[in-house]
Amino acid sequence: MLQKTSHFMRQANLIGGEWVAADSGATLDVNNPATGLSIGNVPKSGKAETRRAIEAADAAFESFSKTTANERAKILRTMHDIMLDNQDALAELLTLEQGKPLAESKGEIAIGAAYLMWFAEEGRRVYGDLVPSPWADRRIMVRKEPVGVVAAITPWNFPSSMLARKIGPAIAAGCTSVIKPASQTPYSGLAWGVIAQEAGLPAGAMNIVTGSASEIGGELTRHPAVKKITFTGSTEIGKILLKQSANTVKKVSMELGGNAPFIVFNSADIDRAVEGAIAAKYRNSGQTCVCTNRFYVQSRVYNKFVEKLAEKVEGLKVGPGLEAGTVQGPLIDNNAVEKVEELIADAVGKGGRIVAGGKRHELGHSFFQPTVIADAKHRMRVTKEEIFGPVAPVYKFTKEEDAVRLANDTQYGLACYFYSNDLGQVFRVMEGLKYGLVGVNEGIITTPEAPFGGMKESGLGSEGGRHGIDEYLDTKYVCIGGLGL
Ligand code: NAP
Repeated sequence: MLQKTSHFMRQANLIGGEWVAADSGATLDVNNPATGLSIGNVPKSGKAETRRAIEAADAAFESFSKTTANERAKILRTMHDIMLDNQDALAELLTLEQGKPLAESKGEIAIGAAYLMWFAEEGRRVYGDLVPSPWADRRIMVRKEPVGVVAAITPWNFPSSMLARKIGPAIAAGCTSVIKPASQTPYSGLAWGVIAQEAGLPAGAMNIVTGSASEIGGELTRHPAVKKITFTGSTEIGKILLKQSANTVKKVSMELGGNAPFIVFNSADIDRAVEGAIAAKYRNSGQTCVCTNRFYVQSRVYNKFVEKLAEKVEGLKVGPGLEAGTVQGPLIDNNAVEKVEELIADAVGKGGRIVAGGKRHELGHSFFQPTVIADAKHRMRVTKEEIFGPVAPVYKFTKEEDAVRLANDTQYGLACYFYSNDLGQVFRVMEGLKYGLVGVNEGIITTPEAPFGGMKESGLGSEGGRHGIDEYLDTKYVCIGGLGL
């Protein structure tokens, strides 16, 4: 197995086209969440390495920004092909460090490749404007130009595809980058360096630094050559980066936390809703920003939904991600398990009824039983806090307007889902929900063709879709006068 992954498994920073250690030689251990054992280490870098990476990106920008959209599309298409040709190896590496089932890792590699292809195409359609001029002898031109050096910071839950959404538009637009992957899952991030090199991306156009988050993040937000910060992670860290970026007024994109509601109305197809619930809750063991946090189920179908959901959840096979048939891997680490235990204890103490799971899994380490809590109450911690684990609290409601009000009662606004077969209700509820992503009778909706981004404290800007590349472009207005017309 490791033979396949080893080609992509780099244990060094990529700076200016060279794979290098941290200046101090210090390293960070990376563990396999399924065993708790170390699988290797990566450089523990800080300010100095980050500064050199920024300088390399800045130097490379000079020529890379002048390449044609076609040349950049070709690089992206080659990167796409390399990913798909090596899907198994990249997926194994991802599962090894992150824990998710191999099938989910393969899916993550495939959607990452799809983002690259989307942006390879979009990059060729970065149009400007010729605007009708109010002056007879002047012409008005609007150009789109790459912003410059982009800093990308990403989380551990989707260590490959979260970067695809940033690398794709950055390269397509003609930007160069410095990447800081999450310390728990750095290998899938470093693999991007191998893919980029093999696809012919010029040295310095993509740099990757692993290590101290605050030192690397501090330098990326302080340095004036970095023109844009694109971050995916918690709202807490997003706010820190926003504050730090204010000093040099950087462009920012923030993909932050969520607290997704999933509403099931009386008119819904319950079997379809349960299927959607499994996908929207238990994928990646509940560790996605768009995972359902709260299930609101209308009174007439409440018992039926809880019963069917619990039955399905009991049947989810928990195991190491690399083992055939596994659909639930471990949580990322023991801290995550402890948080889930605390949230369950709080819910049970406030009247919650465990109808599936509820405990650590017999496999040990950070494995946890997929869990359903019936009779959930508003005052429970799970109502307000991002669970980030395989726990489904199910609340009962009577009136449609109450469901919408409760669903919106959060500072987050990333994803939400609802199931209904009443057309009028579908439109009323869809329009009432304050969320950037709405799944109607669907539990998984992410695709490169559609914009992905949150409202409220879930973020700023969109990744993917027709608008995704705009975040990497500046607008320049040019007035050409004295034409003597
Ligand atoms: P996190 O703690 O915010 O970490 C995310 C990244 O930020 C990691 O690379 C981390 O580095 C880095 N970081 C931490 N402190 C930093 C600092 N002071 N300066 C600069 N960088 C810093 O989030 P996480 O626990 O990895 O990921 C889970 C969170 O991400 C959840 O809230 C989830 O909802 C959110 N998420 C959102 C989306 C979306 O698209 N909206 C997608 C996926 C995940 P280290 O690893 O070295 O600490």
